[in-house]
Amino acid sequence: MKVSVVKETAPGERRVSLVPEAVVKLRAAGLEVLVQSGAGDGAWLTDDAYAEVGASIVSRADALAADAVLMVGRPDAATVAAFRPGQAVIGLLSPLTDPDLVRSLAEAGVVAMSIDMIPRTLPRAQPMDALSSQANIAGYKAALVAAAEFGRFFPLLITAAGTARPAKVLVLGIGVAGLQAIGTARRLGALVSAYDVRPETRTEAESVGATFIELSTVGPAGGEGGYARALTDDERLAQQQELAGHIARHDVIITTAQVPGRRPPLLVTEDALKAMTAGSVVIDMGASALGGNVAGSVPGQTVVSEHGVTIVGASALPSSMAPAASAMYARNISALLLHLVKDGQLALDLNDELDAGVVITSGGAVVHPALRPSEAPAAEPPAAEPPPAEPSLPSRQQPPGAQLDERAVRE
Ligand code: NAD
Repeated sequence: MKVSVVKETAPGERRVSLVPEAVVKLRAAGLEVLVQSGAGDGAWLTDDAYAEVGASIVSRADALAADAVLMVGRPDAATVAAFRPGQAVIGLLSPLTDPDLVRSLAEAGVVAMSIDMIPRTLPRAQPMDALSSQANIAGYKAALVAAAEFGRFFPLLITAAGTARPAKVLVLGIGVAGLQAIGTARRLGALVSAYDVRPETRTEAESVGATFIELSTVGPAGGEGGYARALTDDERLAQQQELAGHIARHDVIITTAQVPGRRPPLLVTEDALKAMTAGSVVIDMGASALGGNVAGSVPGQTVVSEHGVTIVGASALPSSMAPAASAMYARNISALLLHLVKDGQLALDLNDELDAGVVITSGGAVVHPALRPSEAPAAEPPAAEPPPAEPSLPSRQQPPGAQLDERAVRE
């Protein structure tokens, strides 16, 4: 069986789906590995590094002809057009938010597997949990980007030239990324508070050194599978208003809130931004084409509000650490592939919870229950919330004298 690595096509994407260490593992399991020339460039992995461990370096067309194509993100339209029926395609396809892509993969006749659909609570699926591995990286980098953007210190500093008080950081959303952001900001010396709608996150946040913020106007909002549910309109407004008071008392806000298959909830409104002190920094890890956690955030861009608040639309943090992110992702996707392959061939068992969880299209049809329109409350178009208010933010404006590092947050 031939498995291939193709160069990612999303703008600014630097990650690659396999690193040489993973090629060794797959070859040991009897798989032939093809790597598109230049696929590893963004992660500083040369064609030679892959060839040395026995991969064949091939053209894109040859890579796309393999039995299984391994990707990080979604295939673009030209890539889907090159797929052939029966071929397996594995990547972070985010199918809940892209029904058009799901349809086109079904029409192409491929067996599409979305690694972000893995049942994450299954113990045997943990090594394949790419959402967690990439969220860990994003949370870590979000705290570093915040510290780099912030014009003051994170730690308490007592020097002959004066004392600097520690930065006050607020992390909104305490999932995998939020916990890593808390831990990293704490290690940099900041005072960290955190908030989530799931009450069980209190002990997790406290265990990594944050003070948990409880809102009096919003009750617990845990949903299925350990995720949050979408809030009602009333809850959302109450949450935004009560959070605004907390936001105004912090120097740095890092938002990580997500509800699977939905537009990310708007947590930091334009009014909340206006109440922040000039020089404050907001990192929106929820920034996406669907809208983010922060009013006026633009995915992949840094903007400064009229009131001097720097808002980073941090949509591509794992890609900004491509070597680490690719190494972890390669372990996740290889673990999945090795689980799916028996005697050198793909052997799917749709009675297995894990296999059924990841396969989204097969035999020309959409097969995942969460994606079939009649059975799919979670696949409802992500329009439950009104779009964030139009920002009055000058794009790409920089605070006086500041050098915003564009490399930190790539488009
Ligand atoms: P996520 O990326 O879906 O969301 C991030 C956080 O945003 C979540 O904690 C969520 O509660 C929070 N959130 C959503 N709406 C919010 C709102 N309106 N206000 C404030 N916060 C809001 O989450 P994730 O990091 O993927 O993790 C989701 C859950 O899955 C967690 O309980 C995590 O511990 C669990 N998980 C379990 C395993 C496992 O069992 N092995 C692995 C990974 C994750």
